[in-house]
Amino acid sequence: MNESIVGRAIKNKLVSVSFYNPRDFIKAPKNNYRPVDDRPYGGGPGMVMRAEPILKAIDKALIKIKRNKKAKVKIINFCPSGKKFDTAYAKNSVKKYTDIILISGRYEGIDARVNKIFKAEDISIGDYVLTGGELPAMILVDCMSRQIPGVLGKIESLEENRISSSEFYTRPEVLEFKGKKYKVPKVLLSGDHKKIEEWKQKSK
Ligand code: SAM
Repeated sequence: MNESIVGRAIKNKLVSVSFYNPRDFIKAPKNNYRPVDDRPYGGGPGMVMRAEPILKAIDKALIKIKRNKKAKVKIINFCPSGKKFDTAYAKNSVKKYTDIILISGRYEGIDARVNKIFKAEDISIGDYVLTGGELPAMILVDCMSRQIPGVLGKIESLEENRISSSEFYTRPEVLEFKGKKYKVPKVLLSGDHKKIEEWKQKSK
């Protein structure tokens, strides 16, 4: 969160990220062990994150958010089987909401009542299973930040909106690696913009 474009956006107050640890919302017993998980009803191999600490964490985040009377809040729960996250979703969310609460689950996921109480939407970042929702949260923050006006520099914005090819080349013109030579496609050196554009379209 401190690096590169997202780091700069936070520093320039275009984006703000707050963290709430569910463990902080459980009263510590004498041994200071504060479990946020418990066994699933109906059985099953994994553990489930308990609802109460997450509900309290969301409530605390909402108190801060709602200091702004115009706040429009969206609550997202990460889940591999949820709606697939993409740039269009990021663009839309940034237009519609001032604040987004991201629930990063662990174990088998979170108690389903959290979603029901707060009408959270299940979002997946891809068809694979990760250990927790922290990386999905970072992906979403990164992608959504790029959609906030002023976050990208002029050149980066242009790049974002252009239809670009999947192949890029820079110096040297002829790259030598382990006795072999690798050349930049001739068309890119031709100066013929029409042909270059056609090549880029083809190599998408
Ligand atoms: N048993 C769960 C299932 O099959 O849906 C997998 C839970 S996963 C081990 C633990 C947590 O990682 C999830 O609650 C979610 O927060 C996060 N997670 C894992 N893969 C994800 C993905 N592809 N997209 C979004 N979140 C993911």
